[in-house]
Amino acid sequence: MAQLPKYQMHVGGTWVDPLSGEWLETDNPFNGKPWALIPRGNADDANRAVAAAKDAFDNGEWPRLTATERGNLLRRLGDLIARDADRLAATEVQDNGKLIAEMRGQLRYVPQWYYYFGGLADKVEGAVIPSDKPDMFNYTRHEPLGVVVAITAWNSPLLLTAYKLAPALAAGNTVVLKPSEYTSASALEFVKLVDEAEFPPGVVNVATGYGREVGEALISHPDVAKVAFTGGSVTGRHVYETAAGGLKRVTLELGGKSPNIVFEDADIEDAVKGAISGIFAASGQTCVAGSRLLLQEDIHDEFVERLLRTAKTARLGDPMDMDTQVGPVTTPPQFDKVLSYISIAKEEGANCLLGGRAAQRPECGDGWFVEPTIFDDVSNDMRIAQEEVFGPVLSIIRFRDDDEAVAIANDVMYGLAAGVWTQNVRRSITVADRLQAGTVWVNTYRAVSFMSPFGGYKMSGIGRENGADAIREYLQTKSVWISTASEVPNPFVLR
Ligand code: NAP
Repeated sequence: MAQLPKYQMHVGGTWVDPLSGEWLETDNPFNGKPWALIPRGNADDANRAVAAAKDAFDNGEWPRLTATERGNLLRRLGDLIARDADRLAATEVQDNGKLIAEMRGQLRYVPQWYYYFGGLADKVEGAVIPSDKPDMFNYTRHEPLGVVVAITAWNSPLLLTAYKLAPALAAGNTVVLKPSEYTSASALEFVKLVDEAEFPPGVVNVATGYGREVGEALISHPDVAKVAFTGGSVTGRHVYETAAGGLKRVTLELGGKSPNIVFEDADIEDAVKGAISGIFAASGQTCVAGSRLLLQEDIHDEFVERLLRTAKTARLGDPMDMDTQVGPVTTPPQFDKVLSYISIAKEEGANCLLGGRAAQRPECGDGWFVEPTIFDDVSNDMRIAQEEVFGPVLSIIRFRDDDEAVAIANDVMYGLAAGVWTQNVRRSITVADRLQAGTVWVNTYRAVSFMSPFGGYKMSGIGRENGADAIREYLQTKSVWISTASEVPNPFVLR
């Protein structure tokens, strides 16, 4: 058998074998076969990466760069990602099975994060505080935190990386990136561009391996100031608890069970496309998946008929083919999880209108494919309506009026995103106001931007990524007092 390409970790500006001496195979979800070897880091590898990041933060060239110079580096990195976008996209497709059509778009868009936060780097201004003490001058500075650990999920590795790295670096921190064990290759390809952009050594390090091994050691490391995490809510809670032990800051971007609400006055054709894009794009493996389709009673039958007509035509197959519309599920455990939720929904009495099983079509080869699945007659208290599946499984729930739609939409532990389909402006604004979600889309779905804050309400997370304020999540404020008094006053009283 031909030797698989073997990656190394990137620590302190150099490529190193894992101290564990072990590698793990990474698979291509389309054919189920391993295609590369990823270093299986352990606690020693985590310690080495954090030490390199700490050294780069405390010493070296990075802390001496001006904010403008940091911004220039980020923009140069953005240019290099733009140059290599299609190559990086192909690596991601090979590793996570998402469509090349989607990943090319994503990777061509990713440079914007580095341009935007690069531009912001030298616009972080402190303030001169108008002191109430006549002989005091008081000003603030916004300073970096130190070593940031960035942990990403497998569904959009380099986009999620950009959400974290661009503001963290713009603010002057150093980073240890820990990608998912399933999709580490693109992070290791990406860091080559960090080198090429000539970031000082140790500013960006990549430690790969299992979350419970290298990841656990990173989040509990005393020299880590912040953990920026994207993943499931169970792991997110664990990260939060562990980080609390060291009083580390966190940003948590977690799961969702997002409602996509269609009112009777919606443009039905558009809303059908919105429902499809909400759940079948990326095979439902997106945190913002519109996995609960809330339909107003009067349009239910017509809407379902049109939805089925469109969903039945979805082309499954090779994600590298630009015409494919639904690719495989990324990992075997995720494939099993999706199928188990389909069984749960059937046992709960939901009415399976489409799919409901693994896809066995010639064009799906040996990949981990699940048929696009639609359940009708779902009630919001069923597990299929409450728990995140992270696969191409849609639950349809009926509602009578606005109040009931909002009540059902909000009756989950999550609050990541929501969709509203209506042509009534008043309704779009009032319903958007009442939804407990960090993002609400009206007459569209799955729009994100480097400029617009993104994050969750309730169990969907803590903090916000993207948008100008995101850089604040990587800064701390220092207040500097300078006395202009001609003599030191009574030292025994508060000044
Ligand atoms: P996950 O199992 O929670 O893993 C997320 C990351 O955490 C992976 O890199 C994982 O590494 C790592 N990890 C696991 N255990 C850890 C530990 N003890 N200490 C430190 N790190 C640890 O989630 P996933 O299955 O990869 O991703 C799917 C989830 O991500 C879904 O719930 C989805 O909604 C959510 N998501 C949220 C957003 C958002 O922005 N809100 C975006 C995308 C995805 P290993 O993979 O090596 O175990």
